[in-house]
Amino acid sequence: MSTSTDAGAASGARDVLLSGWGRTAPSRAELVEPGSREALAEALAGAGPRGVLARGLGRSYGDAAQNAGGRVVAMGGLAELREIDTGRGVVTVDAGMSIHDLTRELLPEGLFVPVSPGTAHVTVGGAIAADVHAKNHHRDGSFCDHVLAFELLTPSGDLVTVTPTDEPDLFAATAGGMGLTGVVLSATLRLLRVESAYMVVDRERAHDLDDVMGRMAERDHEYRYSVAWIDCLARRGSLGRSVLIRGDHAPAELLRNGRRDSALAPPGGVRLAAPPWTPPGLLRRSTVRVFNEVYYRAAPEHEVGRLEHLSSFFYPLDSVRNWNRIYGPSGFLQYQLVVPYGREDALRGALERLSGAGAPSFLAVLKRFGPQRGLMSFPIEGWTLALDVPAALPGLGALLDGLDELVAGAAGRVYLAKDSRLRPDMLAAMYPRLGEWRAVRERADPAGVMRSDLARRLDLT
Ligand SMILES: Cc1cc2nc3c(=O)[nH]c(=O)nc-3n(C[C@H](O)[C@H](O)[C@H](O)COP(=O)(O)OP(=O)(O)OC[C@H]3O[C@@H](n4cnc5c(N)ncnc54)[C@H](O)[C@@H]3O)c2cc1C
Repeated sequence: MSTSTDAGAASGARDVLLSGWGRTAPSRAELVEPGSREALAEALAGAGPRGVLARGLGRSYGDAAQNAGGRVVAMGGLAELREIDTGRGVVTVDAGMSIHDLTRELLPEGLFVPVSPGTAHVTVGGAIAADVHAKNHHRDGSFCDHVLAFELLTPSGDLVTVTPTDEPDLFAATAGGMGLTGVVLSATLRLLRVESAYMVVDRERAHDLDDVMGRMAERDHEYRYSVAWIDCLARRGSLGRSVLIRGDHAPAELLRNGRRDSALAPPGGVRLAAPPWTPPGLLRRSTVRVFNEVYYRAAPEHEVGRLEHLSSFFYPLDSVRNWNRIYGPSGFLQYQLVVPYGREDALRGALERLSGAGAPSFLAVLKRFGPQRGLMSFPIEGWTLALDVPAALPGLGALLDGLDELVAGAAGRVYLAKDSRLRPDMLAAMYPRLGEWRAVRERADPAGVMRSDLARRLDLT
């Protein structure tokens, strides 16, 4: 969690400066870390006029897990595995448990979380609140598609068991509802059966945007997971040149002797730590250009069936602690958009503008989404592009405002879990079910107790 504490806070509650993973726009709140459900209920009941919000591991990039001048409830004290039914492949966990810790419990049983985002350091509650997606959305949908039930503590103090059939409205409003319907206490998840902790991976280079999109459209359905790393500094004829990475869980029979013994070994921990300062020049456009060139050239033209541990496949950056610090004190943001199939022109336009502006990004990825479920869930059937950009990039505000208009005009949207700067007037165009969501939210929280910086900035509630 990105916090810096103040001295002199009351016992059990501290005044802290909280930010998201991008470290932009920190704000001060009273942080409470309840160790029991009773303490959590008290923290909710005692919220002041600026309201209260749950916080997981602070991996949303912007201000979704902040509540300036109000109360923030950290969920780390409620992080037990409650019950696992290996026969049915179902687990019930406290919402404060991280996917990393859950994976360590599940893998030895031959089970895996069916939707695993680009870092394992997110909580189950955070995964529900953002209805996170992974590299398999085109095949398996998003996180909440695998949630059988969750317990929701509403701001009025009721504990409601929410399932897609018993409380369909509350389910659909909490999935992707960014913590604004109440606090998720626990969740029951349907799991994926795996024979090993390894992936069997194909890699191929694509020479430009049409090439990569063509390859994905043609063969993504053959793979459970698919993602293209895009060189976002490549321009003109090379615009969109990429390394396409696709794979699935490796069956045990593919592992040779050494690996067979550790077939279900859980992911390891951190191997490196980012320095607390930015090495001079690290994020200059020229440095990123060289990195991207080397990465692209080093990738195989076409490689089939490489075995790799799922940690490096799903969470390549988790082995570097605090890598978000390399962007320096002004931080960074991630811009993630989705446009529907048929609006490839808008995706191309967005990439042209980003590469034209020379936005230096090591991390730009393209994925394909299947249909949407939650009222405010980000995924819609289409193409999603995400890239990290330093917040200090000159002209960034105007560039992204222009992209918002392009994306909204193509019936697309940006991802609220990554957002720190969208204008409120864009929201209704991007999220056409906003009105339905507001109506359900108002029933769940008539007094407007659940609040966040994101909600205030975007007039969400
Ligand atoms: C390196 C990296 C890679 C990522 N890759 C992906 C990706 O591939 N796909 C994707 O979808 N996202 C991705 N994300 C974003 C991340 O998955 C989401 O922002 C997720 O919500 C973070 O979970 P968290 O536990 O850190 O929640 P926080 O960031 O602490 O909170 C996020 C939201 O969840 C709410 N919340 C948290 N806990 C609860 C609870 N118990 N009850 C109710 N509301 C709660 C908060 O109020 C807030 O609105 C990535 C983030 C990083 C840093």
